[in-house]
Amino acid sequence: MQAAPSIPGPAIEAVIADRLRPFGTTIFAEMTKLAVKHNAVNLAQGFPDFDGPDFIKEAAHAAMRAGQNQYARTTGLPVLSSAIAEQWRARTGLSADPDAEVTVTSGCTEALAATFLGIINPGDEVILFEPFYDSYRACIAMAGATPKFVALRPPPTGTGEFTFDQEELARAVGPRTRAILVNTPHNPTGKVYTRAELQVVADLCLRHNLIAITDEVYEHLVYEPALPHVSLATLAGMAERTITLSSLGKTFSLTGWKIGWAIARPGLTAGVRAAHQFLTFATATPLQAGAAEALKHGSAAIAELAAMFRGNRDYLCSALRELGFAVHIPAGTYFIMADHSAISRRLGMRDDREFCVHLTEKVGVAAIPPSVFYDRAELGRSLARFAFCKKRATLEAAVQRLRKLSA
Ligand code: PMP
Ligand code: GLN
Repeated sequence: MQAAPSIPGPAIEAVIADRLRPFGTTIFAEMTKLAVKHNAVNLAQGFPDFDGPDFIKEAAHAAMRAGQNQYARTTGLPVLSSAIAEQWRARTGLSADPDAEVTVTSGCTEALAATFLGIINPGDEVILFEPFYDSYRACIAMAGATPKFVALRPPPTGTGEFTFDQEELARAVGPRTRAILVNTPHNPTGKVYTRAELQVVADLCLRHNLIAITDEVYEHLVYEPALPHVSLATLAGMAERTITLSSLGKTFSLTGWKIGWAIARPGLTAGVRAAHQFLTFATATPLQAGAAEALKHGSAAIAELAAMFRGNRDYLCSALRELGFAVHIPAGTYFIMADHSAISRRLGMRDDREFCVHLTEKVGVAAIPPSVFYDRAELGRSLARFAFCKKRATLEAAVQRLRKLSA
């Protein structure tokens, strides 16, 4: 066959719709690429450098061998929908009808997209706490809606829990507000919202007839007995108006499986499913079978993982503090926000991006510059986010390299 003749013409630049142009490439892909290029220890993108439990992988293999390889039911493989509903009942005491109130998606990322596209209209406003996980803002833009931001700030002096100002949150609600998104445990700050904070959100939702969307992908990764994870849907009046999202990836160190879900009353589930059926229709069948086993028999694996991560958190927090960072100890997730001002001032660096690129290229440890997670970028400039979902040996190698900073 002859090659088609090339027709001279203007070079085609990246063709990106206007609504997505502002978002560029995600910081996770960007920093991982830089880490690979410079052979840096990757504490930037949050993924474990060890494998998930064998019994879950075996269950997926078995499903594949047994011929479970065609499209799954669009709303989720029945055995997985039931396992999600059962786990939800066991953790929160709330019942969910697996057929009418649980939707399985391709990761929490798709659950978020299906939620925004399925329930939000162009012109609506959605309240986000900043810093925010990066896909929220892009999905809100894809839905033609507008985000309104409320800051989570560390205490004015020293380090500690990030929190929000109730007045600022109340002021963010306007006539076009449709929903508030709460991510707890929170990426990137590691904050676990207290029941009192969630009550403030609930009161506003009830007063203004708003929908709550909660991203609870780190629901099992909490480290302080005094600060347990609380689901917003468990607060009085909230089950009716909350869409609770989660996924398998963080809980079982299987981030590449991309199995997620949305739990909501049938009225809200209708919106999520209206979008889900046209986004992906269904999610990988044998992996859903594996996920069902994980949820049914995973409690020991979850406890073991949370204990290991707690040790990693303590190790990396104290190492970073010794190196001169001001560390905000996370109560949950697998991220640490550390203030690099004292170090970057000494090195003559202006902001988090310059600092994190230097760290990756010259020190050999990659971290995320968190200003990309803020609308008001200046709020994140003094911070760097380190992931501790790694083998201890990986963290030790990173700390060894970071010692160059104080040399
Ligand atoms: N929400 C938050 C807060 C996250 O950190 C992540 C991690 N990637 C996601 C959603 C996406 O989850 P998934 O990998 O299941 O799509
Ligand atoms: N959730 C992970 C993080 O925050 C990465 C997700 C991704 O790469 N899209 O680092």
